[in-house]
Amino acid sequence: MPPGSTALHHPRGAHCDVLVLGAGLAGLRAAWAAKQHAPHLHVVIATPAAGPSGSSFANKNNALGMQVPSNAQAVAFVEEALSLAAPGLALRPLVEALAEDAEARLADLLDLGLAFRREATGALQRFPGCFSAAPRAVIYTGLAAAHRAFLGQVLGLGVELLPGVEAVGLNVDSGRVCGAQLRDVRGAAVQSLNAGAVIAALGGPAPLFTRRTCGPGGTGLSYGLLAQAGARLVNAPYLQFFWVHPKTLRFTNPAELDWTGAMRDAGPHFTPQLIQARRMHCPTAYGQPDAAIDASLLTQQSPNGICWATGAGGVLLPLVLAAHAGNGGALIDTRGRTTVPGLYACGECASGMHGANRLGGGMVLAALVFGARAGVEAAREALQGHASARAEAHGPCDAARSQASATPQPFLRTLRRNMQRHGLLAGIHGQGAKREAFVSRLRTWADAPSTPQRQRLLSLSALAVLGAARVVTATGGS
Ligand SMILES: Cc1cc2nc3c(=O)[nH]c(=O)nc-3n(C[C@H](O)[C@H](O)[C@H](O)COP(=O)(O)OP(=O)(O)OC[C@H]3O[C@@H](n4cnc5c(N)ncnc54)[C@H](O)[C@@H]3O)c2cc1C
Repeated sequence: MPPGSTALHHPRGAHCDVLVLGAGLAGLRAAWAAKQHAPHLHVVIATPAAGPSGSSFANKNNALGMQVPSNAQAVAFVEEALSLAAPGLALRPLVEALAEDAEARLADLLDLGLAFRREATGALQRFPGCFSAAPRAVIYTGLAAAHRAFLGQVLGLGVELLPGVEAVGLNVDSGRVCGAQLRDVRGAAVQSLNAGAVIAALGGPAPLFTRRTCGPGGTGLSYGLLAQAGARLVNAPYLQFFWVHPKTLRFTNPAELDWTGAMRDAGPHFTPQLIQARRMHCPTAYGQPDAAIDASLLTQQSPNGICWATGAGGVLLPLVLAAHAGNGGALIDTRGRTTVPGLYACGECASGMHGANRLGGGMVLAALVFGARAGVEAAREALQGHASARAEAHGPCDAARSQASATPQPFLRTLRRNMQRHGLLAGIHGQGAKREAFVSRLRTWADAPSTPQRQRLLSLSALAVLGAARVVTATGGS
């Protein structure tokens, strides 16, 4: 590619072979795999920010844990992950894929020189992840350095980074995804970039909430984009929430909380075993007996969402629920393919390798495993030429062909406030007439052609998180 030229102003027109949307762990690993598999392909990553973004490279903890079951631990890992899935959907072959590739994906990170926590002997330290007592997870720190290492790897391979744009639509032709509409984040101009295959690595739905712990740079558009393209979404309502401090949003270690404060009106079924189970995981659970503790605590919240619990040393702590990371997304197969031809998904916008609840460290593993698999498969598809030829047939797109205004801030504020009010722990909290009114407004925005495109996508995403039937029906059930 000539210096100064970008995919959008490419001599061949607005076209590339593999288009990756998003530059978190999933997107960078996918681009890496695609380019490594087929070095002569033109692989482009479109992302709002050039620097570290998203939960992968800019989260508040500045550290990430990753499940890495050894061969001997693989069976136990698979059974444990599947046992946590209900009432959501997890498919055994996808969980087995995680176990199969875990060591190889860890080797990638070691080769990149990431800073892992180690024993005095130099061996990697192993930790139990949330919902598990088995010490299988490793932890690395220094996310900005991790970003530099990943970016160096993909740019070194010749992947093109296209920063300053966000996807506001997927191009679909005869039922096949063949590119994306990219909005300049500093303006309203939208250009179309066609591609032989498109990989959605757009992150999760936590940006839809006022209180959130996800890293900056997320748009919250992923479920809307996938649903609008016709991809089947699963597990979308199973968004993880953490109890955090209302001002700092620092998470509270559940092992240090005296959960009996939550049991004011709880009755005799709140046993010490139940409390012990709750201490084993930071995110609120779905369908597990100890979810009753969080639901009970939530009933005690003040109008501004604050609950009180007793922490270490008997100190009373204010707590609020903050959206952390989604367990839902496009249902993929073991090769990272969604239900729509030409469209792949990985990372926090893909699902089926975990259901309603996820082992701590399971998302980093999933982002890397399915990022790599989706990248290889998308490259294969682009190589087949059939898809590339189709994309070329669209020809170069006119510059600034359409406009998609940025979401008006008042709309985003209203959306986030209402999601915070009605979208916590889907099905437990926020039932009632006001929630119904909110859902029906979301439907209006999602359906009305006069609604700006970005606002429509946000509404679709919000409907998916709320488990509102319209998206479920539109995408073939969840
Ligand atoms: C504080 C915190 C701690 C966590 N700790 C762990 C942990 O220890 N272990 C674990 O397994 N998981 C953990 N998670 C979850 C995990 O970090 C994320 O789920 C994972 O990193 C998501 O990776 P991703 O690449 O899918 O998304 P992200 O890292 O969020 O990246 C998404 C990318 O997509 C871009 N994007 C968004 N919208 C658009 C658009 N419309 N067009 C183009 N690009 C777009 C974003 O700018 C970003 O570059 C944690 C999450 C948080 C918030």
